This record gives sequence, C-alpha cells and structure tokens, in this order.
Amino acid sequence: MEIKVSIQANISIQNGKTNVNEILLAIGNWSKKVGLDVCKGVIENYQKEIVTMLCNGQGEASWLRHEYKGSPGQICTGGSFHSGGTRNKERTIRTHMGELKVKMQQVVCGVCGKRFSVLLPLLKIPPRGKPTIKLQHMMAETVTDLSYRKGSSRIEGLAEVVIPKSTLHRWMTTYNWEILMDKMHTETNWKNFTGIMADGTGYKRQDADTTKGDLRLVFGVKDGPKKLIPLGAWADKSWEEIDKELLQKRPSDIQVPVLVVDGKDGQALENLTSATQRCQWHIQNQLGYFLWKDKVDKQQRESLLEKLSGIIKIKLPKSDYQEISPEMQQQVQEKLKESKKSIEDLIQSFHKKGYIAASQYLRNALEHIFTVVEKWLEIGYMPPKVISLLERVMREMGRRIKKIGASWKEKGVIAIAHVLLTRIYTPEQWEQYWVKLLDIQNRCVVKSYHISFSVISSCTIPGHY
Ligand SMILES: [Zn+2]
Repeated sequence: MEIKVSIQANISIQNGKTNVNEILLAIGNWSKKVGLDVCKGVIENYQKEIVTMLCNGQGEASWLRHEYKGSPGQICTGGSFHSGGTRNKERTIRTHMGELKVKMQQVVCGVCGKRFSVLLPLLKIPPRGKPTIKLQHMMAETVTDLSYRKGSSRIEGLAEVVIPKSTLHRWMTTYNWEILMDKMHTETNWKNFTGIMADGTGYKRQDADTTKGDLRLVFGVKDGPKKLIPLGAWADKSWEEIDKELLQKRPSDIQVPVLVVDGKDGQALENLTSATQRCQWHIQNQLGYFLWKDKVDKQQRESLLEKLSGIIKIKLPKSDYQEISPEMQQQVQEKLKESKKSIEDLIQSFHKKGYIAASQYLRNALEHIFTVVEKWLEIGYMPPKVISLLERVMREMGRRIKKIGASWKEKGVIAIAHVLLTRIYTPEQWEQYWVKLLDIQNRCVVKSYHISFSVISSCTIPGHY
C-alpha cells in the first residue's frame, strides 16, 4: 500500500529581526515533532488498512501470527479474523526518536477465538515497556561509554526520550548479554586459535561483605598474538567453574590450544587444556578398534596400546611461562622429535606384520597427535610478547570496568564486561548483532516528497508597511 502524507505549516518570522539560530532551532524542533507525528500517522493508517484487509479475507494469516488461545507456546496461523474494535488506550512505544503514542486496534481470530492487539505481531514491537531495538543499541553504547548516572541524561539528549536511571540499570542487568560471548564459540574461531589467554582483575563490589570483587576474562588468540576473541567474562567465579563452562561451550572434537595465563593463575583452566589427554585417549581407543579389525589378539593389542601411550605422552611445563628456560624448550623439542620417530617405527612394524587398518589409521592420526605440543612450542617460545599483550588487555579492561561499573553490582559488572569486550575486540560482531536485530530490508521507503513555499507577504497585510 501507499500512504500519502500532506503537511501544511505556517512559519512566522519577525521582519528584519530574526537570525539563523532562531530559524534552525524552530524548524529543527518542529521537524522532530513532525517526524514522530508522521510515524504515528503512518503506523495507525497502516494498521487500519491491514485490519480491513484481513477482515475481508484479503490478507495473509502469517501477518498476525499469535499464540493459540489457551495454549501458550503453540502458534496459531488462523486465516480469518474479525475486527475487535479500537482500544481507547494509546500504547506508548519508546523509540530513539522519542515516545510514540499509537492507538491500538484489536482483532478476534476466527480460528482460535483469541482477541489481541494487531500492532505487536504486525510490526514486531517489543513487549510492553521495552524500548525499540535502535534505542536499546543506543542505551548499551551510552552506558558503556560513561557511567550510568551520566548515561541516563545523555540518552535524554540524544534520543529525546526520558529513561529513568533505575530502568536503564535494570534493563542493562537483565538483558541476555551472554549471547554475545556465545556467538564467539564457533568452530571456525576455535580452529584458528593458537592460544587461550586467561587473567583476572579486581573491581570494587557493591552490596557485599567484602568490597573487592574478582573479574575474570578469557580470550582466544587468533593469527599469532594479534587478534583477540573474547570468550567470556565472570565475576567472582572460581577458575574451576569457568573451566567447566568453557569445556562445554567449546565445539567438540576441537583440540584446545595452548593456555597462556598470568603467573599467579598458573593452574587455571586445567580441564580445558587437559582435553589434550582426552584426545590422546581417543587415539588409543580408536587404534584398539583397528587392531581388533586386523585380528590382533587382546593381549597383543594391550601391549601395543601401552607402547603407544608411552610415546604420545609429552609432559609440558605448565605453570610459569615466563620462566621456561631454553634448556626446557629444547627438551620438549627433542622429546617431540623422538616421539614422532617412534610412531613412524610403530607404523612400519604394523605394516610389516600386516596390520593394514591400524597402520593406516595411525598414519592419518600422526599429524594431529602432537598439534598441542607443536602449538605450545610455537607460542611458548615468545611468552614475553603474549604476556605483555595480556597485561595490556587486562589493564585496559580493568580501568574501564572500574570507571563504569563502580556503582554496579556483580550482574551489572558482567553485563558491562560482555558489552565492552565485544565492542573493543570484535566491533564488527557488535554492529552485526544489532543490524540483524533491526532486520532492515527497505520494506518501507519514502518514495518521493514535494515541498512548496508561499509567502504571506507583509505587504499584503494592512498596517504592515
Ligand atoms: Zn488464532
């Protein structure tokens, strides 16, 4: 459909006296008000037309998807509707342009009998009281740019809408920001990590017995120690709990790269990184199966697997990365070379004995068996660089969170950390997230407009010469 809008305005100017500031201010304020009024008019007229179409059986049932009456969660796409009249009450929608008050029309579904307001399903308006997506975007950015006290008045200036501090606070802490972190745990990301960095920073906690809280962050390191992908932020959680959570979020069958931690948290995330052992167990298990296929008897199988287990276990120094001596590095490198050679020998001997399936399996597995050790050597060799990067990141996050989150409780601090991490380290993800939510596909456009001016000249008004 098309909606034709006509606007007529009378603008009064004092001859010879006004200045450019007055004109900009008056017209600027007026056009903001007009913008909102036009939105309201367009929405109400669109609503009216859609209701008429649906009640005449001309529309599509999918326009008004709703829950089946009496069965929450079950979607009714009933094809016939009749008008349920207009509710006198206007609905206020909080938008980035200001508050939009819209009259709500209702329909009654001919299939399930539900009576409901048309606008919410038709325009995908957020549930009662919730700001529109664009305003939410602005709120999150404003809050993380400044303290929330300042943030509230800043939004008032930016968005022409009054959001009480408490509402802003509540919205920020109840929004599911964790979803931003979940989006980082993709297979592609994990496959490209050359390391994992973990560290903690203190923050001043409100409302608790001890005022000092502990914020912990974990990053994946991509393309060498250059690009960081935030994997999560936790307030007052133990490394053991974080470890478990990460282990669940990591896509299965992906080897966990080397962990780099700041000295004091040397033992952090043990389970996640010992997934290496799990992978090695997997190799032994698989090899056992192929040996069985090659008709090797149980006793012989067990002794071969034991031999393999002795070969692939390479102990990596775990705790202090800064203190790895060149001797220790060389030790690991030699052990790696030795192990690779032993596996080659094992493959050869399998081949000679006619264990074809087992030798093929081991040959294919060979390049993956030592990935973790190789990665460790790759990154473990330049710890000063990685550690200094980690320190810089933590300083930066600590500074910002302390500044912004000073008066936030635990939940607020995590919310701010999630938003900040995404905005700072993966800004393209942040924008994409909102673009996707906005779902802009140019399904409403202003096709043309025409403005004309006519002066009611002072010369024609008697008494004004
Ligand atoms: Zn229905």
